Amino acid sequence: MEDIKKYVFLDFDGVMVSTEDQNQRKANGCPLTDEYGRLFSPGAVENLRVLLDHPGIRLCLITSWVYAVKDLHDVWKDRNMPGKIYHVCQGGGADFSSFACMSDEDVENLSPGMMIGKGQDVRVYLSRVKKPYAYVILDDIKDFYDEQLPHYIQVDPNPGLTMLDVQKAIAILNNPGLTVA
Ligand SMILES: [Mg+2]
Repeated sequence: MEDIKKYVFLDFDGVMVSTEDQNQRKANGCPLTDEYGRLFSPGAVENLRVLLDHPGIRLCLITSWVYAVKDLHDVWKDRNMPGKIYHVCQGGGADFSSFACMSDEDVENLSPGMMIGKGQDVRVYLSRVKKPYAYVILDDIKDFYDEQLPHYIQVDPNPGLTMLDVQKAIAILNNPGLTVA
């Protein structure tokens, strides 16, 4: 069997940072942030660990944090995150989840030109990788091209990344029908 590389594109806000966890921290009088930004949900981190325990996964970050944090590898190290970062997408993926004032409906109604920032990041990166490959995108905002949607899991920002999301991700990565050859 050919060695199929498995790319996981991971967003932070609304996926690793969850509304429920941030609210919990607030209620407990705990800090919401560290020097890098909002703290990740411990549950989301554990679920990510399960995903990254699968062999051959290459973790790629698609997050607007790239504009705010000098080196996202520092986040991984200092927060004791599982696995390692394979690639950081540096493109213009605007993360609309950080616009707290915008409702889901507002986001849906954005003109297409304002969106697909993340989709463009993923498309550009994958245009450079060797086939065959499989990929999955974990993001709370559907900012992706049609051809990417079968590979996309819309994460609910309230719990953030769940075990169900991880199971869906593994199913996509292992689905021969979704391998790009
Ligand atoms: Mg997000």
